[in-house]
Amino acid sequence: MPSPDSPNAFPTAALARPSTKIVATIGPASEDRLVQLIEAGMAVARINFSHGNDEDHRRRVEKVRTAARLTGIPIGILADIQGPKMRLGKLAGGERRLERGDDVRLFEGDASTEADLLPFNFPGFKGSLKPGDRVLLADGVVELVTQSVEGDIVRARVRRPGPIADRKGVHLPDSYLSQELPTPQDRRHIALAQELGVDFLGISFVSRAEDLERIRDLAPQMMLVAKIERRTALDNLKGILEATDGIMVARGDLGVETALESLPLVQKSLIAEALKAGKFVITATEMLESMVHSSRPTRAEVTDVANAVLDGSDAVMLSAETAVGEYPVETVEAMGRIARAVETSQRYHELPRAGFRQNEPTFSNATALAAAQAAEALSIHKIICFTETGNTVRLLSRYRVNAEIIAMTPSERTLQAMTILSHVRPLLCDRETSLEDMLHEAQNMLVERRICLHGEEVIFVAGVPPGVSRSTNVMKLHRIGEPARMH
Ligand code: PGA
Ligand code: MN
Repeated sequence: MPSPDSPNAFPTAALARPSTKIVATIGPASEDRLVQLIEAGMAVARINFSHGNDEDHRRRVEKVRTAARLTGIPIGILADIQGPKMRLGKLAGGERRLERGDDVRLFEGDASTEADLLPFNFPGFKGSLKPGDRVLLADGVVELVTQSVEGDIVRARVRRPGPIADRKGVHLPDSYLSQELPTPQDRRHIALAQELGVDFLGISFVSRAEDLERIRDLAPQMMLVAKIERRTALDNLKGILEATDGIMVARGDLGVETALESLPLVQKSLIAEALKAGKFVITATEMLESMVHSSRPTRAEVTDVANAVLDGSDAVMLSAETAVGEYPVETVEAMGRIARAVETSQRYHELPRAGFRQNEPTFSNATALAAAQAAEALSIHKIICFTETGNTVRLLSRYRVNAEIIAMTPSERTLQAMTILSHVRPLLCDRETSLEDMLHEAQNMLVERRICLHGEEVIFVAGVPPGVSRSTNVMKLHRIGEPARMH
């Protein structure tokens, strides 16, 4: 008998997978435990291209694919590119402490030989700073205030003291520095991600819609995830939402660029806006941070994950917890349990549906809406949706009905792209030529795999004729086991 404290106290096999998807960052702590991570509830594996080299990324993608095959569960792969992250260069002496009132000089360069001269790795920063603007170092720990700009040198004074070191992150929350995105490194990483056939591309430090349009040209087959972590991105959110497939509430860098205390409300409105625009949304960073070293989360972390689910996130993300943490599998399990506890609550199902859009006059939307409402009216817990592009499934997912959306597609790419969507279980099927054949084959497969029981009431959503994109126009209420004939 495992003791209640043992990580094995909750057998993973017994856990239902949460409707909210879990994105787990893969690193040294998890790359050889992927089957366990998947069984614990991971739906999407994130590979952070800011750490490790091409060989690491390549190997991890391969391992995720192998583990997905072994478990029979489709697992999405999200390659996260670094974008124009601003950093300090190499300091004279490697590290030092800045004291309140110290005067320092800033310049553009890779390295410095004088203690009070700080190098910045990105072009154009001095042109964007004016007296009074803040310069945040070490991810917001140290705050400088710009005094003057003199030629190539910016003079600044330390307002909040603290330690700094080589390559620490820099933020300029008061300036609208327009930076190149993608950077040359991003271009190389996008090419690698393309070659590896990953499903999602996470794009750091997006400022505006044009950033995404440029990347869309380079990666036309990937689902784009705009990481919202700059103040400029908040200002340009509408355009960004139009240009992207989904967003990430990247609370790490966003928490430096905006006041920390505004984060909870920014998170809520980003999620609401994404759902309104019909885009998926991942809530990220420090969700179960203490589990990097502890086998149990803190009360505050449990509440944070639960609130992110209540806010309507499609997915919640783990970073260091699974990449380098001591308890990667336990962390995914904990996240799954927290999500399930919310999803099975009355409160979750009584939330106003941010996604309900009655006024989107397309056949697909009307069919999805009808299916969602029929599921609620009849307390049906499975909606089986046939899809070529995933479009109808995206519409359905957003309604967050108390039903599992079994998304059947003959397209491998569509299958993978749906792994991030809340409430959706993607399933590969053969391409059939008639609606009757589709229903018949689906029914057999669902019973065989014990996804549906004989006699269970379900809702089928499909498009006729089959195989045409954006043609969803049929909803059929169906009892499993009855003939699929339509006439
Ligand atoms: P990162 O992005 O982990 O790549 O920095 C997430 C964040 O900033 O929150
Ligand atoms: Mn970030």
